[in-house]
Amino acid sequence: MAFIGHRCSCGHNDLNHKLDTDDKQVCTARSGEACGEGCDTQGDPELMPTFDRKGRPIERILAPGDALETESGVRLISTCECDACRDLYEQLAVPAAV
Ligand SMILES: [Zn+2]
Ligand SMILES: [Zn+2]
Ligand SMILES: [Zn+2]
Repeated sequence: MAFIGHRCSCGHNDLNHKLDTDDKQVCTARSGEACGEGCDTQGDPELMPTFDRKGRPIERILAPGDALETESGVRLISTCECDACRDLYEQLAVPAAV
């Protein structure tokens, strides 16, 4: 599975961040604690490959706004739905013409 997200200025991606009560991105990369690098503006979206538990790359790309799920179907986190991410998704996830 892969998803489209933004890499934060701290170097971690969307999945390592959650919004705090002020709607500010907070990095949780260090066992739930901020990595300490400081989180500023986010750049252009990019495709983030993710891997299954056996370390194999997974081809499917999550649609913007879709959620990453655990094997038991628990929704972990939703992917970014901004226009830039939607555009990138459309470029990458165009179904192969048959
Ligand atoms: Zn970080
Ligand atoms: Zn960050
Ligand atoms: Zn986005």
